[in-house]
Amino acid sequence: MRRTLRFKLTFSYAALALLLVALLSLFVNVLFQSRFKDYVIKGQQQKNQSIVGSVANQFNADGGWNGRNIENIGVGALEQGIILKVVDQSGATVWDATEHNNGLCVQMLAHMADNMKSHYPGFKGGYTQVSFPVKNGTKTVGIARLGYYGPYYFTDNDLLFLGSLNTILVTVGVAALIAALLLGLMMSRKISAPLSEAVLATSEISNGSYHRRLSVKKGTKEITELAGSVNHLAESLSRQEELRKRMASDMAHELRTPLTNLQSSLEAMIDGVWEVNAGQLQSCHDEILRINRLVGRLENLERVEAENAVLSLTEYEFSELVNRLVGSFEPEFAKKGVSLTFQGDYVRINADQDKISQVVINLLSNSLKYTPVGGKVEVMLKDTGKEAELVVKDSGIGIPEQDQPSIFERLYRADQSRSSETGGSGLGLAIVKAIVISHGGRIGVKSAPGQGSTFTVILPKESRSS
Ligand code: ADP
Repeated sequence: MRRTLRFKLTFSYAALALLLVALLSLFVNVLFQSRFKDYVIKGQQQKNQSIVGSVANQFNADGGWNGRNIENIGVGALEQGIILKVVDQSGATVWDATEHNNGLCVQMLAHMADNMKSHYPGFKGGYTQVSFPVKNGTKTVGIARLGYYGPYYFTDNDLLFLGSLNTILVTVGVAALIAALLLGLMMSRKISAPLSEAVLATSEISNGSYHRRLSVKKGTKEITELAGSVNHLAESLSRQEELRKRMASDMAHELRTPLTNLQSSLEAMIDGVWEVNAGQLQSCHDEILRINRLVGRLENLERVEAENAVLSLTEYEFSELVNRLVGSFEPEFAKKGVSLTFQGDYVRINADQDKISQVVINLLSNSLKYTPVGGKVEVMLKDTGKEAELVVKDSGIGIPEQDQPSIFERLYRADQSRSSETGGSGLGLAIVKAIVISHGGRIGVKSAPGQGSTFTVILPKESRSS
């Protein structure tokens, strides 16, 4: 059965609280009681010693006993639960508690037995008698017999003390259980509420409501991260959706022109308006080739990401590669009247040389494409320690802010009207990004319309083949 987070969390808190209290009562009832028993037995032995000592002091130098004091000692012992009998050397009784007050002795022993049996039903105890010699110096002058309930017994106070410990434990247990339940409910509400919200939001997003966002409140780190990821997911889905629509309309638009040309040419020939000759057929053929190229581009899109994920890594000097590529672009830049400069650190990187060349080429050709006559393009390469940073900065037309997050998407063109002039396919930056990501790097852009664009590629010096 699938339980809710609230149930699981509350249940675990409560179980933990109960376990702790159970362990504590086990400790108190087993370990503590056994120590307490030892303590009581030791106490009994001390009492015995002290009574025997007091009795010995009542033997007079003239050979007689101080009977009055022995009676006081015997009554005091009785009050402590001990039945005292003192006999002299000849065996004659000096003092006997049972003779003094037999009823009290019997009643006292019965009470002790009741006490122990009521708390420990299986307790094996009974009347115990121990005899001690009573000495005057080194000479034995009599025997003190001490009888009590043994091997040990708990007085009313002892039992009260043990009982109150268990009452405390039960109180603590109940309080801990209530606290655990409250805490569990509180914590689970804190965790499960945003999770339920995330579940709701993701199901709305999966149903196409890409505008849905989660509030990223400050709280549990993972929950905040989850909310951030869900929002990011919604954003990129909505961008993809937009792109898909835009791509469909782009393609329709680009296909329509050659198709319409083809249709009207063929109709003109069928109607006899145009003569069917090699020239007319050639122009129809050209249109078909154009359509074919467009379809080829569509196919290309699918290959881009798959191809760029596989890397063939070699170690090489990055600045040499960039320098060579910049050199190969110089004639084109010069022809257009755009200045091109390169300045860079020596950085050795372990990367796929062909793919990284593709990155540089795409960035350079974009900067050439989107920088008007008289502009300038600067290429810089920096060694930042563990990474290499390539910057391509142009003084071109720039990219509107709202387009910046999308330019790395496949088929995206910031401005529809420029695409026809520049002949771009909207694939260049998507390829660049796929290559950079597959090397474990990152790419970013800073741009403002009319003020140029700066593309920054950061590559780890040691890429790992995925
Ligand atoms: P394209 O083949 O259309 O140039 P890209 O993927 O290379 O496709 O670029 C996507 C879009 O980003 C371009 O259509 C263009 O609008 C914009 N862009 C890319 N590079 C630059 C740049 N250096 N200056 C201005 N706009 C740029």
